Amino acid sequence: MCGKVGVIKKLDNDVINRIAAGEVIQRPVNALKELIENSLDAKSTNIQITIKNGGLKLLQDNGTGIRKEDFEIICERFTTSKLTEFEDLQKIATFGFRGEALASISHVAHLSITSKTKMDICAYQAEYNDGKLKGQPKPLAGNQGTVITVEDLFYNMTVRKQALRTPSEEYQKIYDLVTKYAIHNPTVGFALKKHTSSNDLRTPINSNHIENVRLIYGNTIASGLIEFHIENKDLEFNLKGYITNVNYSHKKYQFFLFINNRLVDCQGLKKSIDAIYQTYLPKNNHPFVYLSLELNSYNVDVNVHPTKHEVNFLNEAEIIESITTALEEKLLGSNSARIFYTQA
Ligand code: ADP
Ligand code: MG
Repeated sequence: MCGKVGVIKKLDNDVINRIAAGEVIQRPVNALKELIENSLDAKSTNIQITIKNGGLKLLQDNGTGIRKEDFEIICERFTTSKLTEFEDLQKIATFGFRGEALASISHVAHLSITSKTKMDICAYQAEYNDGKLKGQPKPLAGNQGTVITVEDLFYNMTVRKQALRTPSEEYQKIYDLVTKYAIHNPTVGFALKKHTSSNDLRTPINSNHIENVRLIYGNTIASGLIEFHIENKDLEFNLKGYITNVNYSHKKYQFFLFINNRLVDCQGLKKSIDAIYQTYLPKNNHPFVYLSLELNSYNVDVNVHPTKHEVNFLNEAEIIESITTALEEKLLGSNSARIFYTQA
């Protein structure tokens, strides 16, 4: 065999950054999730999102805004206002911590940022390309908060762009994401619309979980909801959520889980909960389940996945077991209440 020995070279920074960006931003919905989390981190109470052709167009919030001095470096990788020491990761309360989202977006799309803090007398607007500021930020009129415009996602990544689904499928993923954040954050008003049409979704500021479920999923689900709350001092968790009672069932399983306010996947918990409902629901039917699990942040590792959609946590099996046992009791209670009610 005669193969040429490879020469090892260091990759160019631009190549490194674009590869990293591709890990964080796999499709429009990942970019949007990062932007929503930034707006929540910035204490926004109103987040408006506009989508164009299944991709992003803009997100506007009324949060703290970005200081003019920070415009220069904000889109470089690993620039963040949220984390300084590695140890801080253990108790991080913000969604962001790696300073990668805006950098990643600027490597795979045309990004522009307009922002005003309460200290500034006007807003500033700037465009970014491959992590770098293009020209000086321009002053303009604007309200406190931030507008992020993201256009031509994956313009420089042909294969990634081709792998996207149709605009309506990408939009559906975005819609699902926004509904989940709206239900979990009912004090924040969310609005979602397609470019040139009216809002598809609007939740008011200072709403509550059930009202937002009603607005988004309709009365049938909302009126079948029961509150589910467990606190477990030994396993150091607190779970709050809303689940449908056994009178409700649907072909589609709606399950979403936030762990320490992050929307995450947890297949183990999802399946165990569905299995319990199977005793009560007609075959191939499922419940609606929204859960918010608070764990001691020292027991969670949020940094296991580039899109942060998976987290690792200690005592996972025991926690799932404890949740499913409590759920069984809860459903048994709601079921006997139903029997009692119909007999009366
Ligand atoms: P991270 O969220 O991990 O810090 P990002 O790239 O998402 O990294 O954002 C970089 C920084 O930009 C944040 O730390 C924050 O200071 C600022 N920022 C981003 N989006 C907003 C926003 N909507 N409002 C205020 N500040 C923001
Ligand atoms: Mg962020």
